[in-house]
Amino acid sequence: MFASKIRDINSQTANTSSNFERIKGLRLQRLKSFMSCMNGIKINLLMNNTPKKIRDYWEEDPAMRCDRHDEGNCAGRLSKEHALIYAGKQIQEIWAILDICAFHHEVDQYAGSGGMDKKKHEWIAISRMATSDFIKYPRRNWRQDLVLLESIYGRYSQQ
Ligand SMILES: [Zn+2]
Repeated sequence: MFASKIRDINSQTANTSSNFERIKGLRLQRLKSFMSCMNGIKINLLMNNTPKKIRDYWEEDPAMRCDRHDEGNCAGRLSKEHALIYAGKQIQEIWAILDICAFHHEVDQYAGSGGMDKKKHEWIAISRMATSDFIKYPRRNWRQDLVLLESIYGRYSQQ
């Protein structure tokens, strides 16, 4: 169908080959954006169709599941979330980088419509800090912030 349309355009604009090239270019651009859109839909369908057996396996393996899996509404791929900013930069430490599903990170198809809770992510990260980490990053009162966050979310226990 696409090829026949190109042939139609070709016959209509045979007198000006540069015009044809311009239209062909525009058509190809549109086709490319359509194809990438279709790919996005295909990926979403694949994720939604992940067999329960595999999703259960992810749930059982702490390394393969969202750090907020206890909320029970995880969806999409697992992504990395830098939960803490220090001196204007993301803290690059194991305890500060969370495994968060696409839904709870509001990425992919959940952008702007997921269950992002930045404060909760901070609570998880700060709860994972050791005393030596408090000392390594002295410009923020971590203990005070943790007390505040625990008043909202309770005491964190690594699951
Ligand atoms: Zn999640």
